[in-house]
Amino acid sequence: MDKLYGYVGKIARINLTDGTVSIIPTSNYVPKYIGGRSVCNKIFWDEVKPGTNAFDPENKVIYMTGPTTATGIPTGGRTVFTSISPNSLPEQYAWSGIGGWFGAEMKFAGFDGFILEGKAAEPTYLYIEDGEIKFLSARNLWGKLVHATQRRLEEIHGQDVKSIVIGPAGENLMRNASVTTSNDNVAAKAGLGAVFGSKNLKAITVRGTGTVVPADINKVLELRKKMSHPPMIQRPIIQETHHGVPGAQSEVSGGWQRAQVACSYGCNQHCMCLMLDMKSAFKEEKVNHVEKCVSIFAFGFSQDVPYGGPGGVGGVFQTEQNHYPACKMLSREVDPPDTSDPYFELEFAPGPGDILDFWKHDFDKGNVINDLCNEYGIDKWDVIIWLLPWLSMGKKEGVFADIDFGMEIDVESEKFVRYLIDMIVYRKGYYGNLLAEGMARAIRVLGKEKFGDTIYHGRYSRMIDKQLDLPISLETAWGHSVHWQGRGFEASIAKPAWVATNLHQMTATRDTQTIQHHHDTFENYLQLKDDPCRSVLTARGVIMGEHKAEMKDSVTCCDWQSPDLFWTDMEAQMFTAATGIPMSEEEMNLAAERSRNLFRAIIIRNYERTRELEVNAIFPIMQYPDPWGETVTWDEWNDLVDLYYAERGWDKETGWPTRETYDRMGLKEVADEMELNGKMPLIKK
Ligand code: SF4
Repeated sequence: MDKLYGYVGKIARINLTDGTVSIIPTSNYVPKYIGGRSVCNKIFWDEVKPGTNAFDPENKVIYMTGPTTATGIPTGGRTVFTSISPNSLPEQYAWSGIGGWFGAEMKFAGFDGFILEGKAAEPTYLYIEDGEIKFLSARNLWGKLVHATQRRLEEIHGQDVKSIVIGPAGENLMRNASVTTSNDNVAAKAGLGAVFGSKNLKAITVRGTGTVVPADINKVLELRKKMSHPPMIQRPIIQETHHGVPGAQSEVSGGWQRAQVACSYGCNQHCMCLMLDMKSAFKEEKVNHVEKCVSIFAFGFSQDVPYGGPGGVGGVFQTEQNHYPACKMLSREVDPPDTSDPYFELEFAPGPGDILDFWKHDFDKGNVINDLCNEYGIDKWDVIIWLLPWLSMGKKEGVFADIDFGMEIDVESEKFVRYLIDMIVYRKGYYGNLLAEGMARAIRVLGKEKFGDTIYHGRYSRMIDKQLDLPISLETAWGHSVHWQGRGFEASIAKPAWVATNLHQMTATRDTQTIQHHHDTFENYLQLKDDPCRSVLTARGVIMGEHKAEMKDSVTCCDWQSPDLFWTDMEAQMFTAATGIPMSEEEMNLAAERSRNLFRAIIIRNYERTRELEVNAIFPIMQYPDPWGETVTWDEWNDLVDLYYAERGWDKETGWPTRETYDRMGLKEVADEMELNGKMPLIKK
């Protein structure tokens, strides 16, 4: 094949059992599978068979950059891991994105990605430099916190290396352990840190002196201007008096300081809020940390975010006149709304969030929780949105009266939170060991009826002036906590949004919303608002979001910037600028659909996924009322699933893609294997 612009041409197969490395040409997979998650899906399909468990040496961690990585295309520093997730219930193939500088450095070192397989005999880390991969002892790193590990690797190999590391949570196989790189950029979802730990792999450190050449440098420069317009310039340090999102802010005594930074190589967006001189969990001196969306809520969780109107804070339903990338929200650089928009009043109609009463605002305690999660290497979402609310609600309902954690449960107390997280990370005692298995598994051992389904009586809707039922465990499908699903945290979104989000979650294997926050047009909202389950527009909006997520994780680019409903060929333009291979919007959509159907085939072949499993997994959470008191019925839900499967070209009875659908994607060999395995829907005469 001629030179492949945008890729460097090699994927490393790294066997930790026998310490060998072999090289696979990237051109075995691209451009058909684009890059990132799409290539990972193909490798997993080819190489990991049913019956493999997350902590088996036969499980693989597949890591891929995309064609934009290190080309200077904004947001292209983001990259993707996939593996069997120990955190999903049941364990299933899943993925996690990560920003930072590691992906670009891998390409400078000559690799588009790697496949980790086997298990090292003792704690090990990999050192990669310009095409060479060494297996080194991590005995002296094992047990170290995340930042200390990063610092030590820089002392050994030089300040200019880039590392991904795990903390004690990953070493101790805590099922929601993360993998961390610079600036606390984290692959937090799926529990990949524990898969690293199961392979005795502490870190990967890389240095590269090569270059990555995009095909069309002028187009790259044009994209840099257009994607950053209006420009998000780096601002000087700002002194803040309050903390939180508009409408849910709390005063911070003494104030705090923040700056704005970009989170990934080559990005010119400066979305991230860098919090300066925060309280540390481990030492006297203050620490800085990059604030991601979830950390806001660690500080005060007494009411839900007041999304209210359908546009709401996150711009779920957008108009041409009023839309902005989500990163503007994160950086608080949101442009003032255009009040000449005919939908302005409807779109921005304010609405109060629910009263939840979990814990009072405590800026210092919040910083300590963040620091603990960052240093131990844990997915913050599980701690802040599931573990702590569960303890808060369960305590108030008397569920934990007979449980002795060794310290009285008190989520308001920094001392208790430190004790609790330490107990779990180091698997101390019966309860530490149990909770390290993740909330879904722990609750089932304790007894789901009492420890999951008990009703919390403290939720109150200010929208309809009523107390509303909420289970003490904010659990949704596949062992993950709710996220934009209309209940509990981030509940106050309009019904067409939460119905769609539940459909996203139904066909996933992990929390979907960190890569495909649901978006649609305001015109569609107006058609959907009275009956979102009976319109094909809901199904189409979900499919668009799913395809955008596959694109973002394949091209690779960032979900804080996309989807842009009013610039729909953005990802295709990125791909073409990087590779020089012309790609239309339709072709990009087909590539995303191919990746999605391959993922579908994996979860059907390896995990017996069916319609019955899916509708039953997601339906229960929607039986609790949203802030307007609304639910969906079994018939409504099944009608929507019918519409979605039909749009997808999947059989309505089984939920399996038909041969025609696989063939349309260019996945004939997948269809053949599915047919052999008895996983092809029967053709009805
Ligand atoms: S758009 Fe923002 S969040 Fe996304 S890669 Fe760039 S700096 Fe990071």
